[in-house]
Amino acid sequence: MKQTKISFFSTQPYDKVFFEKYNADFGFQLDFIETQLNEQTVQMIQGSVVVCVFVNDVVNAVVIQELSSKKVKVIALRCAGFNNVDLAAAKKAGIRVCRVPSYSPEAVAEHAMAMILTLNRKTHKAYNRVREQNFSLNGLLGFDLHGKTVGVIGTGNIGKAFAKIILGFGCKVLAFDIAKDQDLEKLGVQYDSIETIFKTADVISLHCPLNEQTKHLINTASLSLMKKNIMVINTSRGALINTPDVIDALKNSKIGYLGIDVYEQEEKLFFKDLSEDIIQDDDIQRLMSFPNVLVTAHQAFFTNEALTQIAITTLQNVTDLLSNKDFENKAALLN
Ligand code: NAD
Repeated sequence: MKQTKISFFSTQPYDKVFFEKYNADFGFQLDFIETQLNEQTVQMIQGSVVVCVFVNDVVNAVVIQELSSKKVKVIALRCAGFNNVDLAAAKKAGIRVCRVPSYSPEAVAEHAMAMILTLNRKTHKAYNRVREQNFSLNGLLGFDLHGKTVGVIGTGNIGKAFAKIILGFGCKVLAFDIAKDQDLEKLGVQYDSIETIFKTADVISLHCPLNEQTKHLINTASLSLMKKNIMVINTSRGALINTPDVIDALKNSKIGYLGIDVYEQEEKLFFKDLSEDIIQDDDIQRLMSFPNVLVTAHQAFFTNEALTQIAITTLQNVTDLLSNKDFENKAALLN
């Protein structure tokens, strides 16, 4: 019997390792393509019923029309966020779209925590200093997280895991979401308006999706409400932050610490080794030049547990969609 073929775009070596391992139970033909999916590269698909994409693949109306003409039936996102897919165009073309709504929320929440601790206690600088036999503490001064107010914007899977971690540090946790989580309230998290969070938090961590309401949530207007020296952490999507506004706020010391695992223009940079290239993006270069900015390249999800769950759930989603049986994982189905 002919195997169903899945074309993977933006494939990294670790995608191959995890998907090949777990595909033994599913039996698909896996076609790994390193390049990103976009209007040009869509032509590389041959005989695939399914395309599997990641966060920076471009799945707009033009790409979807091409997918439809190539008889693709399913777009399987191997991630949670889906802001890069034109769902309406996919629906019109009769292509089903699925995602991995929750793989390891703790992976992302723990990375947000790692960013907070690194920025605060400057362990990255201490590591380099000590290796050079510089045992001085000057410039490494941090602050106690205990007793500080931490604002969590978006308390879904990841925001909830993050709120629990930061409660354990003895912080006061204020949250904003369009839907309250009663479990978190029982644990002591207080929901409040987003303005109150902007005005009172010492640390703000973003865990909401990118959509029309949340785009450029962190901008000059919202920053003007915040305490001087605020710490902002973004492990969600780059465009939650207006980068030029944040650069201004770093220059005038309104932002005291910035940790970003995502960046609005990341598709040209992240997941690639550009160490020999001249980077043309001046905003990322400026951000990386500040001593109080920590940039990681969309690695918050990158744990063994998360990659295992991503592979199993994606292959199961595709199996269920192609067999037309009742789709159990409702949150995974996007149209
Ligand atoms: P989720 O759907 O479980 O939670 C999102 C929460 O945001 C929900 O509670 C929702 O009600 C809330 N929300 C929606 N609109 C809002 C608004 N306007 N203001 C405030 N809250 C709002 O999603 P999740 O699994 O917790 O993931 C959150 C985001 O994290 C994803 O959208 C994705 O972009 C990002 N993410 C990043 C990585 C990474 O590696 N850096 C990995 C996974 C997910």
